[in-house]
Amino acid sequence: MKAEVAGPGGFSPEFLFRRCDACGEQSVVKERWFVCPFCDAELPRAWNVSARRPVEVA
Ligand SMILES: [Zn+2]
Repeated sequence: MKAEVAGPGGFSPEFLFRRCDACGEQSVVKERWFVCPFCDAELPRAWNVSARRPVEVA
């Protein structure tokens, strides 16, 4: 019997953040569902929210 991915030492199902390439919204990826909730575009699997992102919001 095979266990699911949640093995010891594995990563927890924490929320991941991705910026949508299509609409630019930043969204939360839940349960590896890489789809933008705003425009239904597919989100990039790779991290694309850099620490020095050029956003100028107050
Ligand atoms: Zn989007």
